[in-house]
Amino acid sequence: MSAGSFRIPSPSNEPVKGYAPGSAERATLSAAVTAAAGEVVEIPCVIGGERVFTGNTVAVTMPCDHGHVLANVHLAGPTEVARAADAAEAARADWAALPYHQRAAILLRAATLLRGGWRATLNAATMLGQAKTSHQAEIDASCELIDFWNFNAKYGEQILEEQPPVSPPGVWNRLDHRPLDGFVFAISPFNFTSIALNLPTAPALMGNTVVWKPSLTSSLACWRGFELLEAAGFPAGVINLVHGHGADVGDPILARPELAGIHFTGSTPTFQHLWATVGNNLSRYRAYPRLVGETGGKDFIVAHASADAEQLAVAIARGGFEFQGQKCSAASRIYVPRSLWGEVSERVTAMVGEMKVGDVRDWSTFIGAVIDERAFRKHEQYQQLGNSSAECLFGGSSDGSRGWFVQPSLYRVDDPKHRLMREEIFGPIVAAYVYDDDDWAGTLDLVDGTSPYALTGAVWARDRYAVEQALERLRFSAGNFYINDKPTGAVVGQQPFGGGRASGTNDKAGSALNLLRWTSPRAIKETFDAPRGWRYPFLG
Ligand code: NAD
Repeated sequence: MSAGSFRIPSPSNEPVKGYAPGSAERATLSAAVTAAAGEVVEIPCVIGGERVFTGNTVAVTMPCDHGHVLANVHLAGPTEVARAADAAEAARADWAALPYHQRAAILLRAATLLRGGWRATLNAATMLGQAKTSHQAEIDASCELIDFWNFNAKYGEQILEEQPPVSPPGVWNRLDHRPLDGFVFAISPFNFTSIALNLPTAPALMGNTVVWKPSLTSSLACWRGFELLEAAGFPAGVINLVHGHGADVGDPILARPELAGIHFTGSTPTFQHLWATVGNNLSRYRAYPRLVGETGGKDFIVAHASADAEQLAVAIARGGFEFQGQKCSAASRIYVPRSLWGEVSERVTAMVGEMKVGDVRDWSTFIGAVIDERAFRKHEQYQQLGNSSAECLFGGSSDGSRGWFVQPSLYRVDDPKHRLMREEIFGPIVAAYVYDDDDWAGTLDLVDGTSPYALTGAVWARDRYAVEQALERLRFSAGNFYINDKPTGAVVGQQPFGGGRASGTNDKAGSALNLLRWTSPRAIKETFDAPRGWRYPFLG
């Protein structure tokens, strides 16, 4: 027992390490990469704190060298899935009763450990398992994750401080920010280690217990992250780790009456399936499950004739091709006026021509492999579509013989509603539409009406009227909107992330708005001296 109004330390963004040649951090990370590549990890489920090796395994391979096995993941069967839900339920009362500052302290400790020795471990696992360069791994598995934990601890405190503004004399009104009345199911995508670890820990911070199902292809980094959470002090049963192909875990969990929420990041079709299943099961649940999903995107860059062509070209090259275009925020459709197209396309072609595609263990690599064969085949099909129906400025080929390497590709389409302009490809393939300079207003209509998604987007213009017109016309076209910047690289505490329309519920990961979804407040009214007679004055 301790007394005091404890304050969570004020967070600040984690500085990004540079990994320059000869730096200490580069030596440490190199050693961690070599070590991780030299072992095959057996990854268990963890249920109620117990490591469960089911023996039913799938191999996790390196996208850059798909013959190289990094780990064997032990899949949960129906028994393990049921036990994970039971374990989450069993841990609920104690975890919910633990004071907020105790729960927050675990996240602050996790962030501190990640700043130290765990940084290289998580970055190395992310490089090898998800084919990120050192820089991409650093901004994801270290900086963003540290920020999620430090900032969320502070945001949660702000939520607890939210109390009714009025308590008349003789009355004390209070809000009890309870967790949800059941467990939360966290389902994570392959592409960000930070997101994968935030999905279970954000609800847990607010007092919920969790069943967490990571994406199989990111199992290695998720496993290292889970070990870190254990080292930070998460008690057994608060976060239960189960592996499996989507529906094998999803269907039985979604059938549980105690399901109180889903914290999902992944593709739009998967989230729509989960939502429909919850709808079909609605009468079974003890309470209406909270559904939070951040999903697909078809993110745009729209340039006005007044844009700076040099800066715009960098934004397209980085925003479209970093991490192989596998960021949900990656620029994948661009609109350029005819007057700028020549210079912009030449500059982008030259820049991407200098970007080395290859194994991320080679420090000169800028673009690695795509995540797995399924993605690779899909990208091949989109390249074939582009090669046969659009002008290919560069790329257009792929090579899956050793790793899943898709050449960065830029296509210019004549039809602004071409499939390459509408569909989420999630690879290093960018489509461009060149418009007449005097059709700015019509182009903004196109940007808004072409795709069902509304995640990120950028306007490029020096003309402030053009900026204002884009802000107004594209108000609902993106949840994260950029002016003269690339549409990727949102930072916790600076640009809370999430989109609308088919891109998700826009609950802004890494902000108080997200944490609010994991609470179910109870209003408490205490009266200090209640009436003793039943008659009101009007009765005389
Ligand atoms: P995905 O939808 O294929 O898989 C996401 C997760 O859902 C995986 O863990 C998968 O196993 C699981 N899953 C699939 N079917 C399931 C089911 N029936 N029940 C339970 N779980 C199920 O997505 P992905 O390929 O891993 O990730 C890429 C997608 O994620 C892209 O569409 C991208 O835009 C999106 N994404 C969005 C954001 C965002 O913030 N908006 C961030 C990252 C990724």
